[in-house]
Amino acid sequence: MAGNNGQTDGTQGLLVRAPAKLNLSLAVLDRRPDGFHEIESLMVPVSLHDRLRVQVQPAGQFSLAVRFKGRLAHGVGRQLARDVPTDDSNLVIQAARLLAARAGVTAGLAIDLEKEIPSGAGLAGGSSDAAATLMAAAQLWNLDWPMDRLADLAAELGSDIPWFFAQAPGLVAGRGEQVTPLAGIKPLPVVIACPAEGLATGAVYAGCQPDASRRGEAAALATALTEGSLRRALPLMRNMLEPPARRLLPAVDQLLEVMGRAGAVRPLLTGSGSACFSLCRTLTEAQRLAARLDAAGWPGVFQGRVLPGRVDAPQLVDN
Ligand code: ATP
Repeated sequence: MAGNNGQTDGTQGLLVRAPAKLNLSLAVLDRRPDGFHEIESLMVPVSLHDRLRVQVQPAGQFSLAVRFKGRLAHGVGRQLARDVPTDDSNLVIQAARLLAARAGVTAGLAIDLEKEIPSGAGLAGGSSDAAATLMAAAQLWNLDWPMDRLADLAAELGSDIPWFFAQAPGLVAGRGEQVTPLAGIKPLPVVIACPAEGLATGAVYAGCQPDASRRGEAAALATALTEGSLRRALPLMRNMLEPPARRLLPAVDQLLEVMGRAGAVRPLLTGSGSACFSLCRTLTEAQRLAARLDAAGWPGVFQGRVLPGRVDAPQLVDN
């Protein structure tokens, strides 16, 4: 954290981790008059993350540098290093400017963003980066804003962003802004894989037929997982966006098939895709699955684990 009193002296920066999320289940219950969808989902943060280094700038100056790291910087993974704006349309700059305006802050911000989370993948990397920026900016600008106030502001930028302030597994409802944190989810190993192409969230939702009878599925899954029964949990892991995503992008269909053949216990689309994942019972099972998908040439194969609790708080670094 920033010093003993939580304050920075303006010459220091903060290092923040922005984790990806997975939807272990996603039910689309209704299409709302405001154009959003009523959903219920069980969302978990995972160890795959972006990193942000955030520093205070003189009044009104906001700058962003983006670099791709890890899988996105090497070999076949390079084709996933795309589609991240470096101008004011990037969510981190939008978030910083919004907070400055609402809090009456005149200072600016310089952000170095290291991307390891593929975009357009349903992993909400952009949303997580925005949440991390708001947390860091509030601290660097010495704002006395509690997390729930930052989360309310974040909802104006995107439906997935408020969830990241709970920084723990949680049940998500409404259009994504109603979050109930969940304790007791195990740090299960997970393998995530991406096709070369991304998917546009709007197109996938448009191809989905809402079904209100699916209400309660996410809560039932949460009960099975907190009781430690992966066997009972697996059949409850369903994503209503998977059928339209499979239709829109044949590579998703193919990837889910390949994951099943490679030993994945329950291959599933996350969010609106195009990334797919499988929870694994053991680390060995995860290593074997990741190795098989790598060998088959899928560009973005990540092995990690579910994060059961809070992610690290922003860390103070010297400039
Ligand atoms: P969604 O929240 O739409 O489901 P996603 O999880 O599929 O998104 P994101 O990484 O959140 O993928 O990116 C969605 C879009 O947001 C990208 O296509 C990109 O153009 C834009 N974007 C804006 N800021 C960022 C950022 N910091 N990182 C990644 N993408 C960003």
